[in-house]
Formats: sequence, structure tokens, C-alpha cells
Amino acid sequence: MAVHVVETSDPVGTETLGAELAAGLRDGDVVLIRGELGSGKTTLVRGAARALGVTDPVTSPSFAIGHRYRTPHVTVSHLDLYRLAGLEREDPALLADYLGPGRIAFIEWPSRADRELEGARLRVTMSHRGGDRRRIELGGCPEVGEAPPR
Ligand code: ADP
Ligand code: MG
Repeated sequence: MAVHVVETSDPVGTETLGAELAAGLRDGDVVLIRGELGSGKTTLVRGAARALGVTDPVTSPSFAIGHRYRTPHVTVSHLDLYRLAGLEREDPALLADYLGPGRIAFIEWPSRADRELEGARLRVTMSHRGGDRRRIELGGCPEVGEAPPR
């Protein structure tokens, strides 16, 4: 599975990358975004959401696990599972409102819900590279687009 590595040198560069990857997304897609605090996950989502037609400010979800932004074409979901210990003890329906047909979902700290998110289309891993530089790794998900086992 091909992995793409990009480096950005400011937040605008990361937003632009978000917009570029948004262009390849379809209804129902899920994008998983890993990386330390401040590595630019929300900034990337902001750029992607704008490109998908979101006009409201895209901010980090802090009271709910996520935000949903309606556009004329699709609902853009933005989740941050940082404070979620793992879905075992949570209601599995917690994620349902944010995923599925009619939605494109971006999920920060996805490892808290690994099993629920197996079918993701794209995995992004972000890291600090000193100052405003960020390394951004883009990878597909092996389970997407592969023929089912016979
Ligand atoms: P996360 O969601 O990973 O915690 P945020 O996107 O909320 O990160 O915050 C990233 C912070 O780093 C913002 O204050 C942003 O302005 C700053 N920043 C500096 N350089 C970059 C860059 N190249 N890409 C993204 N954010 C950057
Ligand atoms: Mg964030």
C-alpha cells in the first residue's frame, strides 16, 4: 500500500493539503488522523472541511466527541476521541450519528475506537519537525478496494 509523505512549513500549507485530500473523498468515507497534540490534526480537518463546503468555523470538539457540519452536498463530521478510553464501556451508537451514508468523517485519536473504524479510506499520521514544520504521512487502508478473500 503506497504511503505518501509531505512536509508543510505553516498552518496554511497543512490546510491546503487537507483541501487536496478532501477532493478525493466520497460520501461515506472515513479519514483517521493520528499525531501528537499540536501536530496539526484539527488544522488539516479545517482545510478539508472548507473544501467540502463547510462555512462555519471548524474548531476542536471539546464538550461532545464531535461536531457535524451540514453542507448542501454532505455532512462533514469531525470527531476527537482523545478523552474516550475505548468504546467497550461506551454506547456503540455513540459513533453512529457521525458515520455512514451522507457523511464524510474525520477522526482524531482514532485508536480509541479501532474496531469500529476498520473500514476507513485514508490514514493520516502527523508529527512535529521543529518550529512550524510538520511531517504528514498519508496512507490508504489495506482493507479498502481489495478483493474479498475467496
Ligand atoms: P492538533 O489537532 O493535532 O492538536 P491543531 O491543528 O489544533 O493540532 O494545532 C496545531 C497548532 O500548530 C496550531 O496552533 C497551528 O497554528 C500551529 N502550526 C504551526 N505550524 C503548523 C503546520 N505546519 N501545520 C499545522 N499547524 C501548524
Ligand atoms: Mg485537534
